[in-house]
Amino acid sequence: MSDLRDDQWFTEVFDSHGSAFSLKVSEKLLDVQSPYQHLEVYATETYGNLMVLDGCVMLTDRDNFLYHEMIAHPALFTHQDPKRVVIIGGGDCGTLKEVLRHPGVEKVTQIDIDEEVTKAAERFFPSLVEANGDPRAELLFADGVKWVDDAADESIDVLIIDSTDPVGPAEGLFKTDFLKRCHRILKSGGVMVQQSESPLYHSGSIIRELRNDMREAGFDSVATLPFPQPVYPSGWWSVTLAGKSTNVESFREEAAASHEMPLQYYTVDAHRGALALPPFMRKAFA
Ligand code: SAM
Repeated sequence: MSDLRDDQWFTEVFDSHGSAFSLKVSEKLLDVQSPYQHLEVYATETYGNLMVLDGCVMLTDRDNFLYHEMIAHPALFTHQDPKRVVIIGGGDCGTLKEVLRHPGVEKVTQIDIDEEVTKAAERFFPSLVEANGDPRAELLFADGVKWVDDAADESIDVLIIDSTDPVGPAEGLFKTDFLKRCHRILKSGGVMVQQSESPLYHSGSIIRELRNDMREAGFDSVATLPFPQPVYPSGWWSVTLAGKSTNVESFREEAAASHEMPLQYYTVDAHRGALALPPFMRKAFA
């Protein structure tokens, strides 16, 4: 649910958790109803531009680096030699930009269902799309569930599910059948990572179910990494990694410590720290 009040605050209400998040906005820049979702962009007073889908905050200029670095780099430094990467969703292109920072990556295909999201990113979030011209990048607009269905067996090294919440067009991306197909298209040693909602609000529900479903889908190891995300429900978010014949609780620490990428959050210590789950999450997953 969203609301631009007379006093110019954008508010996202998290009804089921009795909480809300607001940003002071100066202008509405875009309001589009695509075939899939309602897309809005606002200029805010202190967070830069804000993208909203179906009333839910997707990203702001100010803090999107947290999410995009944490959905991309832990998975890429966990895989032993990532060359072929696929992103399902991610239409704002911020994840794509992070993946393309890895010089060993040879090809990245991004499949978002909604071209309007990418068009909005091109207009209002130019820093996110600045790597889109990289010859290793391929941008497709299609349903990610169908794309995965049609993909060849054992053809992908790292599969990133950068989706909206598990309702509407993204619902199918959280189902066991979809995870089984993700397992099928990953090579041995492959790593999958999925945005997995709030540790505070969803550890005992969505995250726990996703972890169980990943195991049921055939993945040998699973790790949930929490990280701060001020503009999402509870101000705290997570990604969940799953490994096909590989352990996602360890990663290439030397490479993660010695890269020369200009990152703002991800470090070898941030990755280690995120793997050290707090007791309440361990308990929820037991
Ligand atoms: N960081 C965001 C979050 O966690 O709230 C997600 C950002 S990204 C904008 C999410 C994207 O997933 C949207 O652009 C949406 O169009 C896309 N998406 C949703 N369902 C999809 C599907 N079935 N196939 C491909 N893309 C999908």
